Amino acid sequence: MTSIKQVLCGAAVAGLVAGTGSVVVGAQAGLSSLTAEWMLAAEHVLLLGTDGTNLDKILEYAYNDDSGFKMLMDRGITAATTIAGHQTMSTPSWSTILTGVWDDKHGVVSNVYRPEPYTTWPSVFNLIEYYKPEVDTTVISGRGLFTDMASVGGYPADNIIGISGGSTSAEMDALVTEETIARILATTNNPNTDTFMFAYQSQVDHAGHSFSGGSEEYRDAVINVGANWKQILEAVAQAESATGDRWTIIAVTDHGHQQTVTLPGFSLGHGFQTPNEASSFVIFSLAGNDAQAGGQSLSYQTVDITPTILQAFGIPMRSDFDGVPMQSDPDLLNGIVFPADLKQALTDAIHSFGYPNIGTDIMLSLRALAGGAGFFIESYLLPPISNYLQTIIDQDIFLISGLAQGLQWALNTVGGVVADVATDLGRAVAYLTGAGVIPPNDAPLPLPLPGSAEFTGSVEALLADHNFAAPDLADSDMPLMDMPPMLDVDALVG
Ligand SMILES: [Zn+2]
Repeated sequence: MTSIKQVLCGAAVAGLVAGTGSVVVGAQAGLSSLTAEWMLAAEHVLLLGTDGTNLDKILEYAYNDDSGFKMLMDRGITAATTIAGHQTMSTPSWSTILTGVWDDKHGVVSNVYRPEPYTTWPSVFNLIEYYKPEVDTTVISGRGLFTDMASVGGYPADNIIGISGGSTSAEMDALVTEETIARILATTNNPNTDTFMFAYQSQVDHAGHSFSGGSEEYRDAVINVGANWKQILEAVAQAESATGDRWTIIAVTDHGHQQTVTLPGFSLGHGFQTPNEASSFVIFSLAGNDAQAGGQSLSYQTVDITPTILQAFGIPMRSDFDGVPMQSDPDLLNGIVFPADLKQALTDAIHSFGYPNIGTDIMLSLRALAGGAGFFIESYLLPPISNYLQTIIDQDIFLISGLAQGLQWALNTVGGVVADVATDLGRAVAYLTGAGVIPPNDAPLPLPLPGSAEFTGSVEALLADHNFAAPDLADSDMPLMDMPPMLDVDALVG
């Protein structure tokens, strides 16, 4: 199958190999032609995310042929990595994964969603849609963070699939899996369209919060996600054999989990700097790179994922990325080894990770505590009280229901202000401790023109998104005080 797209891609590859691109390719003998061949085949990129999943638990419970984790490790290159020195919370960490910069740039420090960081530091969805709108981009998630992130800015993803339904996170993950498989198989009807898909699994993190990372429930969740990913990988194999297309697949988690229970039925989970909480992994299966299947990377980091995805589509790198493309960065290529026992080698790597220096540890702990306050008030304290009042209002009791309604109104109004102030204080602490202090080198993506194919929203919404492009607390008057944080109700347990 030869298409115009592949010819164009070939020209881009030739430019890269000739050294005219922004990335040096060919540091090792014979690499240039191989890399060129892989890039010609890079028609589909699938990013699989699993929340709060410790690699040591994957190796303990799911390193077997029933699991997609091992299938992907056998097909690609696996790195045990750590995010020590960075916030071990979901939204900050997924923001790093999906923007290619650390929190000292994107400035996201809590699970309260705000769109501004992603107009200053555009997500992988925006970057693909801006540079290569012909790539069909999809996000499939039961968590609002990702559907929100993919919607923000002038260049939203093409298919933003918010999965609802399912009474447990395991059921929701099954629905995400079903939808992902359907969309992978649908590429066989349209084989000349490049695709990027991100599919997110939530249940491991939920089990970690409810029962701890050392629990049987956590084990079962790891096994479930492995089984879901196995089905997804089988669908990829089916699509590959039907079309001859080849798929690049990347898997990642945002952070790990504490192994202990804080209170009966509750684990603090993560947010601090213990090695278990800072634990992460990257599995990278580059289309066509069979020669390195089953390898181990000593150097991949979660921040490398967005540059890698862009490189696969021949999209230029930002000048201010913290990450580098895994398929072509000379240092990362030199950091690939082939251990006789991958499981043991990864286990050894996990055990080599320690704490950040004490100053960083204290600074990030302070940030986690301060940043979490507003989210905690709004997520945990307001809804139960408000719901209780609602039951009284619903009973329509003479006088009492009216009073309850007034009280609920006051609570929601004043309570929201309290949460806002706490959130703003959290962001102030974050800024003072180094989050979001580094401004971008690169200009924001230009706004699409109303009437153009890419323009899907209203001018007002776009301008609202772009009004707060600079790290917001650089302004002393706290410009977002009157803007209620958009609560991600799916992210209550972060
Ligand atoms: Zn969590």
